[in-house]
Amino acid sequence: SSDTFLISACLLGVNCRYDGQSKSYPPLYGLIKHLRLVPVCPEQLGGLPTPRRPAEIKGGDGLAVLLGRAQVLNNQGEDVSEAFIRGAREVLKLAQTLKIRGAILKSRSPSCGLDPLGVTAAALRQAGFKVYEF
Ligand code: SF4
Repeated sequence: SSDTFLISACLLGVNCRYDGQSKSYPPLYGLIKHLRLVPVCPEQLGGLPTPRRPAEIKGGDGLAVLLGRAQVLNNQGEDVSEAFIRGAREVLKLAQTLKIRGAILKSRSPSCGLDPLGVTAAALRQAGFKVYEF
């Protein structure tokens, strides 16, 4: 519905980050009362374990990964692009099903970040959804 937003689960205190921690951002907690927040973690939805190896986009941004022109590599040099793309697709499916008004995303993440653009943020933006980062 019109007041529904997806939100990076780690911003709400869910321990879904690569290091098994959260990145809780308490100023956002007040939104819980006013909006319908649906927490998602694209990397978990893509099938990656928690904790997991940290990963970075090499050779472009999240859009380039979606287009097969860049890769997400973990710190062992393993290509985890497929899991990141799968997670982005799952989040996009939810966004469309729920007809979200926007997505509140964690900054500086190869999935959720906006600058540089992560894989999930790119998928949402490509589909015309508004994205905000914290
Ligand atoms: Fe948070 Fe997004 Fe990383 Fe999941 S993928 S831990 S929601 S920044």
